[in-house]
Amino acid sequence: MLKPLSLRPGRDDAARRRHPWVFSRALTGSPPGSAEEIELRAASGALLGRGFASPRSSIAARLWRFDEGPLDAAFVKGRVEAAANLRDRFVPPLTDGYRLVHAEGDGLPGLVVDRYGDVLVLQATTAGTEAARPLWLPALGALFPQASILQRNDLASRHGEGLGLEDELLAGEPPPGRVPFRERGMTFLADLSGGQKTGFFLDQRENRHLVRGLAAGRSVLNLFSYSGAFGVAALAGGASRVTHVDTSAPALALARENHVANGQDLALVETVAADAFDDLRARVARGETWDVVVTDPPAFAKKTPDVDRACRGYKDVNRLALKLLAPGGLLLACSCSGPISADLFQKVLFAASLDAGVPARILERRGAGPDHPVSIDCPETEYLKAFLLAR
Ligand code: SAH
Repeated sequence: MLKPLSLRPGRDDAARRRHPWVFSRALTGSPPGSAEEIELRAASGALLGRGFASPRSSIAARLWRFDEGPLDAAFVKGRVEAAANLRDRFVPPLTDGYRLVHAEGDGLPGLVVDRYGDVLVLQATTAGTEAARPLWLPALGALFPQASILQRNDLASRHGEGLGLEDELLAGEPPPGRVPFRERGMTFLADLSGGQKTGFFLDQRENRHLVRGLAAGRSVLNLFSYSGAFGVAALAGGASRVTHVDTSAPALALARENHVANGQDLALVETVAADAFDDLRARVARGETWDVVVTDPPAFAKKTPDVDRACRGYKDVNRLALKLLAPGGLLLACSCSGPISADLFQKVLFAASLDAGVPARILERRGAGPDHPVSIDCPETEYLKAFLLAR
């Protein structure tokens, strides 16, 4: 028997517009007591959709389908196959690292799967997604029978849902701590043991390609570098030199490994373990100039109440970065804060330019690549912004 959930009168608009999130405050009665399959009904009794409950979350359930059909293994397999087919069409050549499943964007709420060669690294961010494992795991195994499948669980969202935080091997051999994969012919190492995200920032692939294409003969300052991927792409594109700045020494060590994995000359690479704000101020004080600067900080705003403070941080970083640009220099300014829209981020960059006294023109407004699709029904899941500015 499916657990029926009923909406309060007048609260069925969102589900009728195929929004997958069911907020507990919109429900009659008590929220579901366990993570299980549910069917959602309007106050009239009409069936609105089926999904999985997350008892400890303010999003009490996420809907996986909006019609009469069953939420069974065949249906989920179809969704997983559709996700894989999309990647077959859009992932560039010489690339075996990409996001295979992007949660709501692929009609699989709460499920993220990244492919690194023969290793699939996944995150089940909600209790409901965890409960749905018997549906999605066989589908992934059928598509990638040789793959190791690792579920990474050290996530804040899982903590909030009362879920386990230990990683789990779901199929195949335990993968090594660092898994090599290819991106447009470059080699990168995903750090599965202590790394961030699922081990690499696949969402910046198309923006790395942009930097690669405009780096020839240019000096490149890569702020918040993590494992140095922007700098590796820049040297692949013929940059004259690259400096990475990050607070994390292990990330910078991985950056050097990534350069070596691509046969690049470490004499052209500098790594600086420092706070990027302090580092930028020191560079401005020294009167440095750079041809290309990349700012890609961690999400300063995870929730709406953080937005004002986050905007001050983005403004500060990019104000200082703009001051470093040589005439004709380029700034790729990124924000992965979901609650900050592209329009708001543009205003922040405008304020940064004004304060810096450095004119800036927008050459491109970009986001994540097409392996990170955004459901038009659920625009809240869009997060990455990248503005290419020219001095
Ligand atoms: N640009 C990277 C991803 C950046 S993730 C890529 O393309 O792969 C954000 C990075 O910022 C992390 O590596 C984190 O260690 C670093 N970081 C966080 N706060 C910082 C600070 N104040 N100064 C410098 N680095 C910081």
